[in-house]
Amino acid sequence: MIELRNITKVYKTKNGELTAVDNVSLSIEKGEIYGIIGYSGAGKSTMIRLLNGLEKPTTGSVLVNREEISAISGGKLRAARHKISMIFQHFNLLWSRTVEENIAFPLEIAGMSKQERTKRVAELIDLVGLTGRGKAYPSQLSGGQKQRVGIARALANNPEVLLCDEATSALDPETTDSILELLLDINKRLGLTIVLITHEMHVIRKICHRVAVMEAGKVVETGKVLDVFQNP
Ligand code: ADP
Ligand code: ADP
Repeated sequence: MIELRNITKVYKTKNGELTAVDNVSLSIEKGEIYGIIGYSGAGKSTMIRLLNGLEKPTTGSVLVNREEISAISGGKLRAARHKISMIFQHFNLLWSRTVEENIAFPLEIAGMSKQERTKRVAELIDLVGLTGRGKAYPSQLSGGQKQRVGIARALANNPEVLLCDEATSALDPETTDSILELLLDINKRLGLTIVLITHEMHVIRKICHRVAVMEAGKVVETGKVLDVFQNP
């Protein structure tokens, strides 16, 4: 589903060059929940930006569904990015719009008719457990509910990959668990491939099938979660 082949990302800085991602190769299967864990500065955010085509690797290639997204740009890249969706640590909701309007936003951009949008939004609201909250504004929701809106919006156009950027880092432990359970449920029901980056071991242990551990731009270990994080 996703393949990173010998990816290196070098940033030019005031003091010279900084290698944020250093010769990383990974492959992620369709339907898998794959975690990338590491401390701050390890290169996780850079990996996410490479995966969604927002940045190009300095060398190496990124393939999503056999399409080399690191080699295309413009309209072709925008089309390829429709398959890739994202959720964020701070949710990135539109604050002047209701839950329904936030979720309808990507459908509107995709050109869906009002009637179809209404139906699809209702389905998504039910899917993420926000039934009855469609008319609320983000400011009236808890953190967990805001992330549920983020998830519904991310799923609106039936993506094949969901990228989660520290998606539970702003939430308390109980809410974190409920959001992880929702992601697990969506993965099972829709067969959606999920890639998540986090600095929290608990998140990886709870839902990931496989994990890559990053340190200073390098992947230092990969494998099944149970093998990588064995209990002593
Ligand atoms: P993480 O998400 O694991 O904290 P990042 O990918 O944000 O790691 O950063 C990896 C390294 O790359 C850090 O040293 C960071 O300062 C550097 N870096 C990230 N983005 C840029 C950028 N746009 N320009 C220069 N350096 C960057
Ligand atoms: P947190 O995720 O830390 O709880 P908030 O939910 O308050 O933070 O805000 C999430 C994001 O929305 C932040 O990036 C913030 O800057 C932005 N934001 C907060 N309030 C508004 C607002 N009234 N209008 C537009 N953007 C807002």
